[in-house]
Amino acid sequence: MTNVAVLGTGIMGTGVAHSLRRCGFEVSAWNRTPSKASAVGEGVTVATSPPDAVDGASFVITMLPDSDVVREVIEPCLASMSNALWLQMSTVGIAGSEDLSALAGKFDVGFLDCPVLGTKQPAEDGTLTVLVSGSSSLATRAQPVFDAIGSTTHHLGEDASSSSASAMKLVVNSWLVEMNAALAETIVFAESIDSSASKFLEIIDGGPLNSPYAQMKGAMMVKGDYPTSFPLSMAAKDACLIAEAARDAGVELPINAETAALYQRAERSHGDADMAAVKTAF
Ligand code: NAP
Repeated sequence: MTNVAVLGTGIMGTGVAHSLRRCGFEVSAWNRTPSKASAVGEGVTVATSPPDAVDGASFVITMLPDSDVVREVIEPCLASMSNALWLQMSTVGIAGSEDLSALAGKFDVGFLDCPVLGTKQPAEDGTLTVLVSGSSSLATRAQPVFDAIGSTTHHLGEDASSSSASAMKLVVNSWLVEMNAALAETIVFAESIDSSASKFLEIIDGGPLNSPYAQMKGAMMVKGDYPTSFPLSMAAKDACLIAEAARDAGVELPINAETAALYQRAERSHGDADMAAVKTAF
């Protein structure tokens, strides 16, 4: 059986580990807080350290908050990963992905930049969208893993040091974090003028102004209850990665700047809550 190491069993890593197990992969999981790796459940080997997790693995998935944490966790593993392929799935931005790809290169470890779209439930169901950049022979090797965790794979660039998948991930998340903040503002506005926010969601439902996302996050905002699918702290981080990429490209994104400030404000009290809690920043 092919062994996959999953480093980081938070919301996404846990779902990915479950999907891999369902598809017949052997999974060894490591998490900073060991109880969360143990909680992944039956059939998953709990590793005591990252090097212990990657021992004997054909694929190593990193699903951690940002590039600094990924580097810290993976660095002690790389010397023993000559036969393994590193699948970097965390959202780390363009510069972050380039930095990690260079790190893999130093140890001659195969690397794919492969962030994912989708959240807690798609991760559990194996229906994520996988964005991949890196050599197509490595991508072909990894396809069985991508098929286990996702329903669609988009190959976006060939260059081994390419970060075009991470670039596209930022484009998608720019849309996501701004749409969610705009929805929060609309709901706050409705409530402040004694109009009905839930009636607003009902009126747009089924029409061209609707989106499934607006219904899902809007319902949470109306209730003021934010069970976490996408942690607000991650949305705040992504808004900053978008700002950084725009700065590097010499373009101004004024809506992103306002949006990032809102997520950062909400993060102080609701960092672990769902991103819908950006409403608390208003
Ligand atoms: P999460 O549930 O908050 O999990 C974060 C994971 O990172 C946990 O395993 C946590 O360990 C670990 N971690 C945090 N700081 C660490 C450190 N200093 N050293 C070692 N481990 C550390 O987050 P998530 O939603 O799974 O997100 C993981 C990645 O996927 C992020 O890059 C995020 O942007 C991306 N992503 C998330 C979603 C989503 O909808 N949730 C969708 C697409 C992509 P502990 O358990 O010990 O805290």
